[in-house]
Amino acid sequence: MSDAEPRSRSTRTCVSCGINVSGTNAARFDCPECGHEINRCPKCRKQSNLYRCPDCGFTGP
Ligand SMILES: [Zn+2]
Ligand SMILES: [Zn+2]
Repeated sequence: MSDAEPRSRSTRTCVSCGINVSGTNAARFDCPECGHEINRCPKCRKQSNLYRCPDCGFTGP
């Protein structure tokens, strides 16, 4: 099996740093603007990195 799946729907990646967060206790919420699902890894959460919605471009803390 390949572990280099381009855009699998089951793969969750942190919107801030892009790492795969599936299987971790990443924060998961919906974009306040468009409702797009956003995932953020615990590390970025801790650092309070800005997130950016990949769908509408909304940024927030
Ligand atoms: Zn991250
Ligand atoms: Zn959005």
